[in-house]
Amino acid sequence: MYNYGKCEICNTLLEEKNIQQDFWIKGKLVVIENLPAGVCPQCGEKVVSGEVGEHIDRLLKDSNRINKAPTISVPFIKYEIESMAV
Ligand SMILES: [Zn+2]
Repeated sequence: MYNYGKCEICNTLLEEKNIQQDFWIKGKLVVIENLPAGVCPQCGEKVVSGEVGEHIDRLLKDSNRINKAPTISVPFIKYEIESMAV
């Protein structure tokens, strides 16, 4: 188990969790799930180890894998003050 240490923002001990993280790659939204990261229970800051970071880079450069991956549709909305429910 990797020791993530403390949160740089609020100094809380980070907890290891498998998270889902989104990345924008060349205008395309890619989500990696089951990503091991240190998550701050206080402020939500996320940290990954160097090794995991390198693996993420490799995954995100693998356009073959990305093209074959299942896709999800996401809501795509405009920023409009009028549409915001109060
Ligand atoms: Zn924090």
